[in-house]
Amino acid sequence: MKVAFIGLGVMGYPMAGHVKNSGMEVCVYNRTTEKAQRWVEEYEGHMALSPAKAAADCDVVLVCVGNDDDVRQVTTSEDGVLNSMREGSILVDHTTASAALARELYQKAGKQGVQFMDAPVSGGQAGAENGALTVMIGGDQVTYDSAKPVIDSYSKFNKLLGAAGNGQLAKAANQICIAGVVEGLAEALNFAMKAGLNGEDLIETISKGAAGSWQMENRYQTMLSDEYEFGFAVDWMRKDLGIALEEAKRNGVDMPLVNMVDGFYEEVQASGGGRWDTSSLLARYTKN
Ligand code: NAP
Repeated sequence: MKVAFIGLGVMGYPMAGHVKNSGMEVCVYNRTTEKAQRWVEEYEGHMALSPAKAAADCDVVLVCVGNDDDVRQVTTSEDGVLNSMREGSILVDHTTASAALARELYQKAGKQGVQFMDAPVSGGQAGAENGALTVMIGGDQVTYDSAKPVIDSYSKFNKLLGAAGNGQLAKAANQICIAGVVEGLAEALNFAMKAGLNGEDLIETISKGAAGSWQMENRYQTMLSDEYEFGFAVDWMRKDLGIALEEAKRNGVDMPLVNMVDGFYEEVQASGGGRWDTSSLLARYTKN
C-alpha cells in the first residue's frame, strides 16, 4: 500500500510514523518543510514539496491539518491532492472540520473516481504517539474496508458511522461532552482547594467512583500545579465548539452548556491562553 500523509503537526507527525512503521510506503508533505525533513530522517520515508506531488500514485491519502480552510487548501487548491489522485484511490481527512465540508469533498472527489471519508480523531497527542486514537468515520463501507489497515496502524478503535459528514458530527458530539466534563472538573477542583481539601487525596478517591473521567485521570495533576503549556489548545477547542454550535443552530438544537463554556474559553483566549490546554478553564477561577 502506498500512502501519502499531509500535515505533520502534533497529531499528524506520529500518525504518519505509525503508518510507516506498519510496513507501508509513506510520502509526507508539510507546509513548513523542516518538519517533513525531520520526519524523513526519523522514519526513513519520503517527502514531497506539495500536497499534489505527495499524493500522486498513492492508494490512500491522509490529511490532518487545522480547519476547513486549511483542508480546502491542501485538497482542492491548485497544489491540492485532488489534482493528482488517481481513480480508485482513497482520500481520508483526519482534521476536525465541518460536516458540510466533508459532504462537499465526498461529492468533489467522487466526480473524479476518488473515494472520500471524514475521519476525525480523539485521544490527543498521547493517543497519536501511542497509536491509540479513536477514529469516527463517515463514508462508504467499501472505502472503509479498504482503508482500515492504514487507520488501524494508529488507532485503538475506529468505526464507520454512516454517510460522509457523520464522522464530523460524532466528533462534534465528542467535543460537547468534553466541554461539560472539563468545566465540571475545573469547578470541582476550585471548590475543593478553596474549601481546604487535599487535591491529590480527593482525586485519588473520587476518580474511582462515578465522577471518574479521561480528563480527570489525565489532567488533574497539571491542573493542580497550574500547568497549561501543552495538550489540546483552547484555540482548537473554540473552532470545534463553533462547528458544533453552527450545526446545532441548523437543526434548531439548544446547547446552553456549550454556549456558556465557549464563552469561558473566549475569556481564556483574551487572557493570552489560546495555545493553553483546554483544562485551563480552572485558571479562570484560580488566577483571579
Ligand atoms: P498542529 O500541531 O497545529 O498542526 C497543524 C498541521 O496542519 C501542521 O502540519 C500545519 O503545517 C498544517 N497546516 C495548517 N494549515 C495549513 C495550510 N493552510 N496548508 C498546509 N498545511 C497546513 O495541529 P494538531 O494538534 O496536529 O491538530 C490537527 C487537527 O487535529 C486539528 O483539526 C485539531 O482540531 C485536530 N485534533 C487535535 C488534537 C490534539 O490533541 N492536538 C486532538 C484531536 C483532534 P505547519 O507545520 O507548516 O504549521
